[in-house]
Amino acid sequence: NTFRDLGISEQFIQALEENNIIKPTEIQKLAIPYLLKEGKDFIGQAQTGTGKTAAFGLPVLEQIDANSKVIQVLILCPTRELGQQIAKQLFKFTKYSDKKIFTEAVYGGEKIDIQIGRLKRPTHIVVATPGRLIDLLERKAINLDHVKTIILDEADEMLSMGFKKDIDKILEYTNGQRYTWLFSATIPAALDDIIKSYMDEPFKVEI
Ligand code: AMP
Repeated sequence: NTFRDLGISEQFIQALEENNIIKPTEIQKLAIPYLLKEGKDFIGQAQTGTGKTAAFGLPVLEQIDANSKVIQVLILCPTRELGQQIAKQLFKFTKYSDKKIFTEAVYGGEKIDIQIGRLKRPTHIVVATPGRLIDLLERKAINLDHVKTIILDEADEMLSMGFKKDIDKILEYTNGQRYTWLFSATIPAALDDIIKSYMDEPFKVEI
């Protein structure tokens, strides 16, 4: 059982190996083949440390059209630290890739003007905390019209931090055009509400 067997293309394998990511974890085995099919909603119930970033990150990298300079994937996460970590992992995975893929992380606690400046460059993937993303949307500093996939990472954490309203707004704003992949350690009632409102027959995996 290798990442090749799961359908990951050769351009990412060497970078994975350099990071000692050789044998897929449980969530990776279950999620990657499904997420590579695209056009599907997905729920992965998994703790941190299980390899979930690569589980969604690799299918994300596979689906990016690097020739198109628009934001195609949005990853929402609860904190600045996690956002930076996700962006860093995605960057590492693309070390030898044929495609030049650009990821930006945006979060509260950093001057918004700096982030607005960075978003003016071609960007394929945005990793964002919900509050800051709303701020950027209200300033029309970010365009989500071409987003095909939204990932909610550590969704239960985002809810306990009070981001429900912001998440609702973002999902309503992008409704109809995108697929949703949700990762969470637990599925509290408020999250069930999001699943029922915004997801279409999601395939659920629990590890
Ligand atoms: P995550 O659960 O995504 O935060 O990943 C936790 C850590 O495990 C990160 O440092 C990853 O680089 C690492 N990791 C992810 N997938 C694998 C794998 N298949 N084998 C070994 N390490 C991995």
